[in-house]
Amino acid sequence: ITILGLESSCDDTAAAIVRVGPDGPVILSSVVHGQTDLHAAYGGVVPEIAARAHAEKLDICVKQALTQAEIDLNTVDAIAVTAGPGLIGGVLSGVMCAKGIAAGTGKPLIGVNHLAGHALTPRLTDQVAFPYLMLLVSGGHCQFLLVRGTDDFTRLGGTIDDAPGEAFDKTARLLGLAQPGGPSVERDAQTGDAKRFAFPRPLLDRPGCDMSFSGLKTALLRTRDQVIAEKGGLTRQDRADMSAGFQAAVCDVLAEKTRRAIAEYLAETPAVPVLAVAGGVAANQAIRARLETVCAENGVAFTAPPLRLCTDNAAMIAYAGAERFLAGETDDMTLAARPRWPLDKRSPALLGSGK
Ligand code: ATP
Ligand code: FE
Repeated sequence: ITILGLESSCDDTAAAIVRVGPDGPVILSSVVHGQTDLHAAYGGVVPEIAARAHAEKLDICVKQALTQAEIDLNTVDAIAVTAGPGLIGGVLSGVMCAKGIAAGTGKPLIGVNHLAGHALTPRLTDQVAFPYLMLLVSGGHCQFLLVRGTDDFTRLGGTIDDAPGEAFDKTARLLGLAQPGGPSVERDAQTGDAKRFAFPRPLLDRPGCDMSFSGLKTALLRTRDQVIAEKGGLTRQDRADMSAGFQAAVCDVLAEKTRRAIAEYLAETPAVPVLAVAGGVAANQAIRARLETVCAENGVAFTAPPLRLCTDNAAMIAYAGAERFLAGETDDMTLAARPRWPLDKRSPALLGSGK
C-alpha cells in the first residue's frame, strides 16, 4: 500500500509518500519546508504566522512529494494527516488540505496523532517489533512509553513541567544562539567545559521515571546573569561552558530515568528488549551516546532514527497512517483537529504536557 502523509502541527510543513510492501516500509519521498526564517525575529514560533505559512506551503509540499516519488495521486491508497496535538491553526491547515485531497480523489482519510508518528518511527526505520520501550523527547513532550501496538501506549513517566527541547530552545535564547536551540547548543557544547558551572539534576532523588526541566532553565538564567554582572558580558567560552553544563545535566537526568524505565519495562519481561528514542531532541549526539551506554549496561538493544526522522517530518505520519490503514481503521470528513491528544488513553489532558 502507498500512503501520502501530511504534517503541519508546529513550524515544519511536510509531505511524504511511504510504501509498505512485503519487505517492509520504504520512504519514496519526504519533503520538509521549515519556517525558521519566518519566526526568527520573534524568538519563538508565532502560531498565526505558522498557520498561514502552512496553508500556503502544503500544496507545494504535496506536489513535490508526488514528483520525487514519481507517482501521481491515483497510486495513493489513503491520505494520512496529523490531526493533533499541536498548534491548532497549523493542524487545521493540514486536516483541511487532507480532506480536500480525500474528497477530490475519493481516497480514505486517516487522522494520525503526531506523537504516535514519532513513537512508531523505529518501526519505519528498523522494523522494530512490539512491545518496545520508547523515550519520546521533543520540543513539546518528554515521556517513557511502553509501545505494545499501533494504538497501544502506556506511559511510564515523563516531564512534570517543560520538555527538554523547550529547555534547549530557551537556553539558546538566553545565550544569544540561533533557533532552534538544540543544534546550536549542541554545537557550542562541543568546545565547552561541562564542569565549570554546576546545574541541577532535578528529581533524581525521587523514585520513578518522572522528570523536571524548568529548574534547569532558571539555573541557567541565574548563571548567565551572574557572569554578565561579573564581567560585563559573555565570551564565546562562557557560552560554550554554559551550553556544555546544561547539556550534561539533561544527559544525566535522561540517563538515570532511562535506567529506571528499563527496569520497569524488563519487569514485564519482553523476549527481545529494545529501547527506541525519537523526537527532535533524539537528534542530539551526546544524548544518543549516553542512552546507548545505558542500554548496553542493561542488556537492552538501542535504536534511534536518522536525524531527519527525529525532527518533524511527514514520513512518520504516512507510516503511522499505513499502520492504521492496515488495521482497517480510517476516518471520515468529521475528522477533527485536536490541540491536545495524549497517547496514553488512561491519561487525559494532564499528561499531554507542554503545548
Ligand atoms: P512535539 O513533537 O512535542 O509536538 P515539536 O514537533 O516541536 O514538538 P520536534 O520537531 O520533534 O518537536 O523537535 C523539535 C525540538 O527538538 C526543538 O525544541 C529543538 O531544539 C530540538 N532539537 C533539535 N535538534 C536537537 C539537537 N541536536 N539537540 C537537542 N535538541 C534538539
Ligand atoms: Fe514533533
